[in-house]
Amino acid sequence: MEKDVFCKIIDGEIPCYKLYEDADVLAFLDISQVTKGHALVIPKKHYDNFLSIPQEEMHKVMDVAQRIGQVAIKLLGARGVNILTNCYEAAGQTVKHFHVHVIPRYEGNEGFILEMKNNSEGLNLPAIAKEIKKEL
Ligand code: 5GP
Repeated sequence: MEKDVFCKIIDGEIPCYKLYEDADVLAFLDISQVTKGHALVIPKKHYDNFLSIPQEEMHKVMDVAQRIGQVAIKLLGARGVNILTNCYEAAGQTVKHFHVHVIPRYEGNEGFILEMKNNSEGLNLPAIAKEIKKEL
């Protein structure tokens, strides 16, 4: 199977601006900076996305994402941070290797627009909640 681009970064075949590295996790700047300091945090072991990574390893990735978010506020002057992970193509995932975006926010929309419209008209919320709850 063809290696994904993040496996190639982990193996040193593609360069990156590294922010943090330990035995399990790597963090680096996204090549396409949505805002200044936009970072990606990934597990070194390959998992397709957030939904398929074991909990313990996911927690290690999220710990680093949290720290980078804190640094963005403290040192980069960000006024907010979006922590985002896309799962599957339908949700905008382009690289099939679990990654968390840490997107510092300064003023206005910059390069990032996240719009959540209220689309609940006609939906049966009690039935939806019942359906989801029975599997949790
Ligand atoms: P996704 O759309 O899958 O959530 O995000 C993938 C991200 O990976 C994109 O924001 C894209 O800019 C970033 N990316 C893709 N290829 C490379 C690369 O070779 N180096 C770095 N640093 N980032 C990359």
